[in-house]
Amino acid sequence: MNTQKYKGRFAPSPTGPLHLGSLATALGSWLEARSRGGEWLVRIENIDEERCKPEFTPLILQALQAHGLAWDGEVWVQSQRHAVYAHHLQQLSEAGLVYPCACTRKEIDDANAHRAFGENRVYPGTCVEGMPAGRQARAIRFRCPSHAIEWHDHRLGLIQDHLQQSSGDFVLKRGDGFWAYHLVVVVDDMLSGVTHIVRGEDLADTTARQIALYRAFNAQTPQYWHLPVILAEDGQKLSKQTGAKALDLSHPLDNLNKVWTHLGYEPICPLANGTSRPTPADWLNAALRVWRRSR
Ligand code: GLU
Repeated sequence: MNTQKYKGRFAPSPTGPLHLGSLATALGSWLEARSRGGEWLVRIENIDEERCKPEFTPLILQALQAHGLAWDGEVWVQSQRHAVYAHHLQQLSEAGLVYPCACTRKEIDDANAHRAFGENRVYPGTCVEGMPAGRQARAIRFRCPSHAIEWHDHRLGLIQDHLQQSSGDFVLKRGDGFWAYHLVVVVDDMLSGVTHIVRGEDLADTTARQIALYRAFNAQTPQYWHLPVILAEDGQKLSKQTGAKALDLSHPLDNLNKVWTHLGYEPICPLANGTSRPTPADWLNAALRVWRRSR
C-alpha cells in the first residue's frame, strides 16, 4: 500500500511541439494529481539527442502554461543528469544485475527470424554468460527476472508479463553512450518521489521492464494508469512522428474540450467570470469537479 503523498508527473520528449495526443496525457495526469491533492511534476525527456530538439522544450512548457497546466517545482531535464544515470547503472552492476553485450542488431534480428511480423523482438541471451571471445561490448543489458511480473493498471486491470519471453534482457545503455529510456525513466521517477504514473497506453507494454528495475533498486513501484491514446485518421498513434499538428494556443478551451471528450466526457463550457471570457483555469476547475465525481 502506497502511503506517500500523491506525486504525479508529465514527461514529454521534445521531439516536436505539444499536440493533442500529448495534451490528453498531460491533462489526465494533471487532473488526477490535483484531484488527489497531490503534486504534478514536469520532466523533459531529451535523452535521445537524435530525436529531441532543444527548441521544442520552451514550446512545450509554453503550451502547458497556455492551457493552465501549472506544475510544481523545477522542471528536470534529462540531458543534464548523465552522472545520476551512471551512478545508478554502477549500482546495478555492483549487484551483478547487468552485463555487456556484443550482439549487433542484425544478429538479434536473425535470432528472431521465426517471429511473426509485428511481434516483439526478444534478446536471445547470447552474451549472458560472457561475450564471445574477441568481441567488443555494444550495449549494457539488464538481467531480467525469470519469473513473470504482475501489475495492476487502473484502467487495463491485471497484467502479467514474462519478460524472458516478451523482451529478454533489455538494454540500459547503448554502445554509442546513449542511455536507454527504461533506465532513465525509472531513475528519475524514483528520485523525484513519483507515486503515480498516468501516461498513454502505448507505453503500457514497457511497464513490466520498468517494474523489474524498481525491484532491482529495492524501490517502491508506483501505481500505473494508462490512458487511451488519440489515433490519427489512418489509425496510427497521433504523435510527432506521424505528423501531429502543434496546438493552436489561441484556442486553449477548444483544445482542452477535444482531449476531454476523447477521455470520454461531455464538453465543458465554463461560465464566464464576471465580464471576462472563461479562462483555462475556469475550464480546469469545472473539469476537476467532474473528474472527482467520476472516479
Ligand atoms: N517521454 C515519453 C514520451 O514522450 C513518456 C515517458 C513516460 O511517460 O513514461 O512518450
